[in-house]
Amino acid sequence: MTHPFLDLAPLGADRFAAIEDRVARLLSTEQDVVIMQGEALLPLEGAIRAAAGPGTTALNVITGPYGQTFGDWLRDCGATVIDLAVPFHTAVTAEQIRQAFAEHPEIDFVSLVHAEAATGNTNPVAEIGEVVRAHGALFYLDAVASVGAEPVLPDAWGVDLCVIGAQKAMGGPAGVSAVSVSERAWARMAANPKAPRRSYLSLLDWKERWIDGGRKALLHAPAQLEMLALEACVERIEAAGLDAVMARHAAAAAAARAGAVALGGGLEPYVYEARDAAPVATTLRAPSQVVASEMVRRALEADPAVPLAAGGGALAKEMIRVNHYGADATPGAVRASLAALGVALSEQGLPVDVEAALRAVEGAWR
Ligand SMILES: *Cc1c(COP(=O)(O)O)cnc(C)c1O
Repeated sequence: MTHPFLDLAPLGADRFAAIEDRVARLLSTEQDVVIMQGEALLPLEGAIRAAAGPGTTALNVITGPYGQTFGDWLRDCGATVIDLAVPFHTAVTAEQIRQAFAEHPEIDFVSLVHAEAATGNTNPVAEIGEVVRAHGALFYLDAVASVGAEPVLPDAWGVDLCVIGAQKAMGGPAGVSAVSVSERAWARMAANPKAPRRSYLSLLDWKERWIDGGRKALLHAPAQLEMLALEACVERIEAAGLDAVMARHAAAAAAARAGAVALGGGLEPYVYEARDAAPVATTLRAPSQVVASEMVRRALEADPAVPLAAGGGALAKEMIRVNHYGADATPGAVRASLAALGVALSEQGLPVDVEAALRAVEGAWR
């Protein structure tokens, strides 16, 4: 009896390399692209541990919870870390990065999250990249929540380590991820005696045993189902056109923002300026008299299919997230999310106008 997930032919080196090449095309990059056999935290941590050490001075930009984690890893590697924390309702500016370089010329590593699904903001990476390149620091970027939702262009932007995962706007699997690595970044790792080697975290193992060997022999049996799912999701993006997929996410963000404002009931966009709001997910500030996680719980009871979540940790009280990514980057998912929130808010006696919200979604969907 055949089974769709089982008894598959082994996934060979040729197929693995072809999937890497496809991911590289998606990023318009000539850099080496290494597919990592785990969720995106694997290359995110692996790249920091490989590239940073006791001699590193890192500028760590915090625009959400991931920036905090990167700072912890950097400190653990022995790096000197300069944290640049930006309120979650806005984005960091290239000018703030320039200022940090002026105050600390010794900075030789910059870590940044492109878009934050957790806080709903997105940072101007193209402009920041120019500043980082002019200073000469190594540029590390978490593009997990931006790839597929907005342009991610490591070569054009001078990103040395660009990490992506397929589980957000790409609409793919969570169990594999990828990182593009510049020549400069490989050199930095090779010179770092503390870079992981013969380790699951090691990028250098893939460089030395996979890439330098002409991608003929894999290091270990690949996560076959996840690799096939990654291939399928890239194929689907290619068929629709990357621009069309990104446009769908931009439309979802514009529609969710306009719809929430029209819904009323005291709901407000969490990110003040629309240009700083991520296309991957829209965050909303709950009215002060209610608890955001409670509103989400009620909304999900009203409609269990909607892509709503409360903010993580301390944000659970005040932040509602509309995760309109992947299969949920549709007018239907945005409409249903706002209608369900309308139910939850009106139960609390807050004045909402669901009809106006639905009209605003239609109007904003371009
Ligand atoms: C989603 C996301 C990741 C991956 O983390 P998960 O918690 O496994 O989803 C990494 N970085 C950013 C910025 C993300 O939004």
